[in-house]
Amino acid sequence: MRKVSIFGATGSIGQNTVDLISRAPTEYDVVALTGGANISQLAEDARNTGAQIAVTAYESRLQDLKDALSGSGVEAAAGQAALVEAASRPVDWVMSAIVGSAGLAPGIETLKQGATLALANKETLVCAGPLVLEMAKAHNAQILPVDSEHSAVFQALVGEDIRSVDRVVITASGGAFRDWPIEDLPRATVEQASKHPNWDMGQRITIDSASMFNKALEIIETKEFFDVSPNQIEVVIHPESIVHALVGFQDGALMAHLGVPDMRHAIGYALNWPNRRELPIQKLDLAALGQLRFIAPDEARYPALRLAREVMESGGLSGAVFNAAKERALDLFIQRRIGFLEMTDVVSSVLDRFDGAKGHIDAALTLDNVLQTDHLARHWVDEAVLKRAG
Ligand code: NAD
Ligand code: MG
Repeated sequence: MRKVSIFGATGSIGQNTVDLISRAPTEYDVVALTGGANISQLAEDARNTGAQIAVTAYESRLQDLKDALSGSGVEAAAGQAALVEAASRPVDWVMSAIVGSAGLAPGIETLKQGATLALANKETLVCAGPLVLEMAKAHNAQILPVDSEHSAVFQALVGEDIRSVDRVVITASGGAFRDWPIEDLPRATVEQASKHPNWDMGQRITIDSASMFNKALEIIETKEFFDVSPNQIEVVIHPESIVHALVGFQDGALMAHLGVPDMRHAIGYALNWPNRRELPIQKLDLAALGQLRFIAPDEARYPALRLAREVMESGGLSGAVFNAAKERALDLFIQRRIGFLEMTDVVSSVLDRFDGAKGHIDAALTLDNVLQTDHLARHWVDEAVLKRAG
């Protein structure tokens, strides 16, 4: 039996992973499941899968988790240190599906034990790409992409020489406001931004799709994962979300990956890699679909794309600053304390401030520095918002 753990098991990716694993219960031995505030879901899945341990990110919920697991034989634990401890338990395969930079430390711990890391948590590569890849190499651990675009690129590259790649094209649906007049965007509400046209995902990534911060993170994720240069990475709006990514080669060939928008494809690919197995996914009916559209993104509508380019140019800890500032700005948008477009303004101002302060900050890409920088960037967002309000 393969030993597996799922970090962020109660979320959208996590639940899809639990679904796939539960379909073949004799093949998987579940070690750790982790979640946040949804204690009943976490406990139910831990009982059903016979997990060794269940961890909630919130220490204040430990007693609730213990109560929900009583008599099950599943261990209960809580807090950040418990998450990292759970990640240190020997396994073969781990799904990294916590949302945000909170996924970084458990991911690094997983790599240290040489396990395969199925990476949905793109923030891990955005905040600390070179550090994480070095860690994987040092411990002979495999990282497999779960983001649909990156899984698509990974699949298009099977058997190819990365040096023959000319460009990588990742697609974007354009999010909830693709067809809105730009002048209406400042008034976009949280409810409106939380409705994705094609994918059913967690609220945070759905709003990030509307602002294209998600695609901005994915451009950086592409650069880190596939070791291509920023000018080889293109984004194209593809309203149908059927083509997930394309790889262009020196001879002009473009290899595209197509499929219905169902994350169980990318999760299943990472679970069965290097093999393929049947998945409970609808097959694509091309004739029923009729046509596929591709549109160049308007950078005035999606300024986050430009910020991603600046971040790649700066390198070092800029990715950690960018991601943390985005996470905090998103918190404030969800709390209705800033408007939709203010998210980009605030993130941009924090990146500028970081650029100016660079000489005074230890720039080495270590886990400690990334976590400290993450903390600082969030604090700077709050200061920038206070300043705007004043
Ligand atoms: P989600 O919000 O549905 O779930 C997030 C999970 O993380 C939950 O289990 C939650 O309890 C846990 N969590 C939240 N904050 C935490 C913290 N501070 N510490 C520990 N755990 C915490 O998110 P999701 O949509 O499943 O996305 C998960 C990750 O996968 C993100 O990085 C996202 O960008 C990426 N991703 C998601 C999709 C998708 O279809 N949902 C697609 C591609 C990539
Ligand atoms: Mg994606």
